[in-house]
Amino acid sequence: MATTRTLTIIKPDGVQQHNIGDIIHAFEQHQLKIIAMKMLHLTKNQAEGFYAVHRDRPFFDSLTTFMSSGRVVVMVLGGDNVITRLRELMGATDPAKASAGTLRKQFATSIEQNVIHGSDAPETAAFEISYFFSELDISK
Ligand code: GDP
Repeated sequence: MATTRTLTIIKPDGVQQHNIGDIIHAFEQHQLKIIAMKMLHLTKNQAEGFYAVHRDRPFFDSLTTFMSSGRVVVMVLGGDNVITRLRELMGATDPAKASAGTLRKQFATSIEQNVIHGSDAPETAAFEISYFFSELDISK
């Protein structure tokens, strides 16, 4: 069966632009079930740990500075094919290339400040969920 859990983050730009409600509403409309949720302000070090896979990319410092610039909302979502379904709802990384109706097309302002993160594969979902949530948070 396709993976039934993924990790999503409403990034600091989404929180500052008051898109929390819009994004949660879209999740509910698309039957992406919220399993766990918390709001926090990452340190630079915590953002670097989360995005460690990108540490050799030229935008790593800028990305982790942005991700630690304000509060974020972190959620575990559930449902059949949830990884793919969330990625479709998010749209392409660069909002200029994102399809109409996607969250990034609607709310993102740049390739970096693109309002939402979603895990891209089952292995990354497992790592990313465990980065923020314990077993107790997501059981049942
Ligand atoms: P995603 O899976 O669509 O989020 O994209 P990636 O995993 O490739 O990149 C992670 C995050 O890094 C993106 O969501 C953006 O916030 C940022 N990012 C990706 N590409 C670029 C880039 O070319 N320049 C900058 N400044 N940020 C980028």
